Amino acid sequence: MIGVGDMVLLEPLSEDSFLENLKNRFDHNEIYTYIGSVVISMNPYRSLPIYTPDKVEEYRNRNFYELSPHIYALADEAYRSLRDQDKDQCILITGESGAGKTEASKLVMSYVAAVCGKGQEVNKVKEQLLQSNPVLEAFGNAKTVRNDNSSRFGKYMDIEFDFKGDPLGGVISNYLLEKSRVVKQPRGERNFHIFYQLLSGASDDTLKKLKLHRDFSKYNYLSLDSAVVNGLDDAANFRTVRNAMQIVGFMEDEVQSVLELVAAVLKLGNIEFKPESRCNGTDESRIKDKNDLKEMCELLGIEQSVLERAFSYRTVEAKMEKVSTTLNVAQAQAKTRHKVMGVLDIYGFEIFEDNSFEQFIINYCNEKLQQIFIELTLREEQEEYVREGIEWTNIEYFNNAIICDLIENNQNGILAMLDEECLRPGTVTDETFLDKLNTVCAEHQHFESRLSKNSKFLTDHSLPHSCFRIQHYAGKVLYRVEGFVDKNNDLLYRDLSQAMYKANHSLIKQLFPEGNPAKVNLKRPPTAGFQFRASVGTLMRNLQTKNPNYIRCIKPNDKKASHIFTESLVRHQVRYLGLMENVRVRRAGYAFRQAYEPCLERYKMLCKRTWPHWRGPAREGVEVLMADLQVPAEEFSYGRSKIFIRNPRTLFFLEERRRQ
Ligand code: ATP
Ligand code: MG
Repeated sequence: MIGVGDMVLLEPLSEDSFLENLKNRFDHNEIYTYIGSVVISMNPYRSLPIYTPDKVEEYRNRNFYELSPHIYALADEAYRSLRDQDKDQCILITGESGAGKTEASKLVMSYVAAVCGKGQEVNKVKEQLLQSNPVLEAFGNAKTVRNDNSSRFGKYMDIEFDFKGDPLGGVISNYLLEKSRVVKQPRGERNFHIFYQLLSGASDDTLKKLKLHRDFSKYNYLSLDSAVVNGLDDAANFRTVRNAMQIVGFMEDEVQSVLELVAAVLKLGNIEFKPESRCNGTDESRIKDKNDLKEMCELLGIEQSVLERAFSYRTVEAKMEKVSTTLNVAQAQAKTRHKVMGVLDIYGFEIFEDNSFEQFIINYCNEKLQQIFIELTLREEQEEYVREGIEWTNIEYFNNAIICDLIENNQNGILAMLDEECLRPGTVTDETFLDKLNTVCAEHQHFESRLSKNSKFLTDHSLPHSCFRIQHYAGKVLYRVEGFVDKNNDLLYRDLSQAMYKANHSLIKQLFPEGNPAKVNLKRPPTAGFQFRASVGTLMRNLQTKNPNYIRCIKPNDKKASHIFTESLVRHQVRYLGLMENVRVRRAGYAFRQAYEPCLERYKMLCKRTWPHWRGPAREGVEVLMADLQVPAEEFSYGRSKIFIRNPRTLFFLEERRRQ
């Protein structure tokens, strides 16, 4: 074993020794390290031979503490408790961009697919689950400066299993796709993969049908300086995606429709508007060169004049949304209750130089996840000790509920104030929103001294113009209010959705149901912030009903390079992921606990007095067992219903004895 596999066993424990241990292990290709049952995963930035079928076999049906740390151990544990103990599971994967979250989610999925049931129908479902990834990535991932395959949306997938533990299908929820990327990409970044894949990989014939050129430079939406990415084969990936779409269940004509849409978006990007003065002195926008418009209309079956009119009267805003996609669930109608394993791969905390509405929303989501982490891991741990009557010294930990409240409180939370401002009649600007924020939050501080001491809304006079600052659990973040109101309003003008609804193209029609004139709804659609808060709320309630499993991903360097461990970067991540706190709580307590009955069942063979039948209460049996095995008294405690074992080594010892 290189270094210490479980940080709980690290001696002495300090931030430095923690980092030292991570580095030591990383240098020896040990990218996984535990904190109890939490898996820390360091991105190796190269392929390691640790995901082979042999490895799967090695980890299959083994206990966490028996083998060296691996993401497969977590996946195995989660799958087995789902199958055998009927406990719904969720796998929560966090970390910053490029830390390896998406790769981790795929490793978990492929492990589970490898160990769960077999058979023709089941295999088909497995294939569909796995192949949903290339499809989602083509449309939702892009090269950014941080990651060549960065997910620009959050993803939560519930995989459903029947009572035997065979997969039935899955439900995928997407959160906050960064749609503005279609129109504009930061320097050095690309648009979504699918555009490049289509142009590089489609046959001449397909391109001709879609009225496309192979040449990226023909399209305004495809940034040129970074169109080609080292090590990324767009053409080959196109074939993978085509194939994956078919496996997932797209019919051939549906694939065609999707590609027509992709082509139409490229055309749309080429349409240029020019202002034209009208006789009454106002300006109206006119389309410069109508060929792209014409081709776009042909692709989508829209009458050109309709679209032209819709375009000229309004502008299109960037929009965010939550979309739920239901994968074909083979036997979704089965009456019995399904077992569910949820896998969450969502953007990590972001602190950029310029933070806008998107970062605000993303960081809010991370606060909520941190809260779940605190609630489920730290608080429950402590509460269980109290419940079981085990002696326990309280551990101080930072509860971020106050930050969540600052953002989501119904009355005077920041999102509520933003909504109020967006709906208020009169002139509304980002500045009026900021004024309101400053007034309300400052008042809050003034009148409620208890709050003011803890307030996470930082007002000081050194703030740059048009900004506010929040003390998040992961650090202070300065937000610029520019665009908050527009992005929150999230309006797609009715003329445009109605024009789209008129298209003689089934997919487009489905995408703009609000354009149906029979269903004109004069009510204002919910704001982006409101929708996001609601979907985060749903997600959190969903997660709370499940048994959580944590993977904390860490990015070792900023160069996307293997073998480099940049200490300052890692230290920063260790801090804001709250890993030290996590170890402290684990160490203060017991690494393992088990109810007396199953414990006795499992180990009674190790002692003559308990084997084969113990007639008294299970607890006494366990006491006899421990005494007989001469486990040192400080290594365990007897709770009301469970035995608590301090150290994984003790468990390891018991397991060893069983195998002898
Ligand atoms: P984002 O938030 O931007 O989506 P992410 O955390 O999902 O980032 P990934 O896309 O999973 O990051 O990982 C980035 C890259 O790092 C991968 O494309 C891959 O090259 C490499 N990588 C991550 N995990 C592993 C691993 N276990 N083995 C080998 N390479 C890996
Ligand atoms: Mg990702």
